[in-house]
Amino acid sequence: MTAHSNIYPTKVLQELDAAHHWHPFSDMKSLNEEGSRIITHADGVWLTDSDGKKILDGMAGLWCVQVGHGRREIADAVFKQMNELAYYNTFFKTTHPPAIALSEKLAKLAPEHINTVFYCSSGSEANDTVFRMVRTYWDMKGKPDKKVIIGRWNGYHGSTLAGTSLGGMKAMHKQGDLPVQGVHHIDQPYWFGEGHDMSPDDFGIAAARKLEQTIDEIGEDKVAAFIAEPIQGAGGVIIPPETYWPEIRRILAERDILFVSDEVICGFGRLGDWFGSSYYGMEPDLMPIAKGLTSGYLPMGGVLVSDRVAEGLMNAGEDFNHGYTYSGHPVCAAAALANLEIIEREGLVERVRDDIGPYLQERWRKLGEHPLVGEARMTGLMGALELVPNKDAPHKPFKDVGTVGTICRDASFQNGMVMRAVRDSMIISPPLVLSHEEADFLIETASKTLDDTHQILKRDGWLG
Ligand SMILES: *Cc1c(COP(=O)(O)O)cnc(C)c1O
Repeated sequence: MTAHSNIYPTKVLQELDAAHHWHPFSDMKSLNEEGSRIITHADGVWLTDSDGKKILDGMAGLWCVQVGHGRREIADAVFKQMNELAYYNTFFKTTHPPAIALSEKLAKLAPEHINTVFYCSSGSEANDTVFRMVRTYWDMKGKPDKKVIIGRWNGYHGSTLAGTSLGGMKAMHKQGDLPVQGVHHIDQPYWFGEGHDMSPDDFGIAAARKLEQTIDEIGEDKVAAFIAEPIQGAGGVIIPPETYWPEIRRILAERDILFVSDEVICGFGRLGDWFGSSYYGMEPDLMPIAKGLTSGYLPMGGVLVSDRVAEGLMNAGEDFNHGYTYSGHPVCAAAALANLEIIEREGLVERVRDDIGPYLQERWRKLGEHPLVGEARMTGLMGALELVPNKDAPHKPFKDVGTVGTICRDASFQNGMVMRAVRDSMIISPPLVLSHEEADFLIETASKTLDDTHQILKRDGWLG
C-alpha cells in the first residue's frame, strides 16, 4: 500500500491504523475500538475524509494552517528548494540562502529589539531551547544562581521534557515524573473557571500578582525567567482579563528576570498582530515560534531572541552547546518564506484585526445566548464556548468533566465542522483566510451542534 492511496475502504484503513499506528495524546484502546477518522485531502478551509465528506477545519489543523490548505505556491517553493539543496546543516561555520533569507525576514517582522533567530523543528524543541538559553544566559552573566523558571498551571509549552515541565498540565506531569527541578507554576488568569467571585478586572490583577509573590518568595536572585502564552491555547483559549498583561508588565519591569512569550499559537496573525505579545503591548526577551511559521506545511520552529539575550549569549566567548541536525533546514525555511509571503501579500494579519476577526467575534459571542453556553469568548481568531449544565449558575461545571465536551465535538464533526473540546469547552481557531460565507457556515454549524448536544444531554438526563 502506498501512502497516498485512497483506494482502500475506510474500514480497511482504520484496521491498519489500529494495528500499527500509535497516535499522540490518545487512549489507544478506545480509539482503536471506535476507529480513526481518515483525512485524505484539504483545500482552503475544507478537509475531505476517506468517505468523501467535506468538513470545515475550524482548528486550522492544530492551530497552525494560517494560510489555508492546498496552497500551490508553498508546494512549488518546496519543490524548487528540494531540487537545489534538499539538506545541509548549519553547524561548523556553514549556512545557506534559505536560512539567511528567513532570518532576515523574521528579524524584520519581529519587534525592533529582536533581531536574531535560533532554529529547530517544533514548538517543543523551541521551548527546550528556551530552557537552556535562559539558564545559560544567567550563567554567562555571572549569576549562576538564577535558575528557576516560572510557568503557569494549565499552560502548554509542548511535550518534551522541558516543554512538559514548563507547561502546567498535571496529567502530563504525572507521566515521566515531571516537572524537572527548578520549575515553579503560578495560577492561570482563567476568570470563568477560577475567578468569578471577583470582577474580571480585579481577578486579572490578582492573578498577575501571583507572579510578584512567587518571585519575591523564591528571591529575584534565584529566578531566571517567566514563560507564558499571550492567550493559552491548549489550556482552553484562556483569554486573560484586560488588566492582566499590564500588571505583569509592571511586575517584570521592576525585576531583573527574562520574559518568554510562547508565540507558537499566537504568533503570525492569530490575534490580528504579528505576535501575541505585541497585541498585548509586551516586550519579551525570547519568543518561541512554530505552527503558523510554516502554516504546518513542513515542521519548523525557532526562538526569536532579543538583542539583550543574544549579546549576552553570543559575546560570552564560548560555544552555546545546543542545536539540531535540522536547525534552519533549507526546505522548511523555503516553506516558511513562501508562507510568510502569502500572509503579507494577502494582508492576513490586518484581515484578522479589521475584517474577519470582528466579523466572527460578533457572531460567536451571540452563541453565548444558547442555554448550554456559560460564556462565549474570542480574541483574534481564537475562541471558546464554555458548556454548562445550568445557565443560571454558569460557573458550576458538569460532573465527569470532559464527557459533554466529547459529545459536542462528535456532534460537530457529524455536522461538518472540526471544533475541539478542552474539558467541556469548545474551541475554534480557523485558518486566517476564512471567508465571510465560511464564517457564517461556522456559526450556523456551531449553533446546530449546540442544539444537537442539548437534545442528547436532555435525553440522557445530564441537565437534572
Ligand atoms: C503546540 C504548542 C507547543 C508545542 O509545539 P509542537 O510543535 O507540538 O512541539 C508549544 N507551545 C504552544 C503554546 C503550543 O500551542
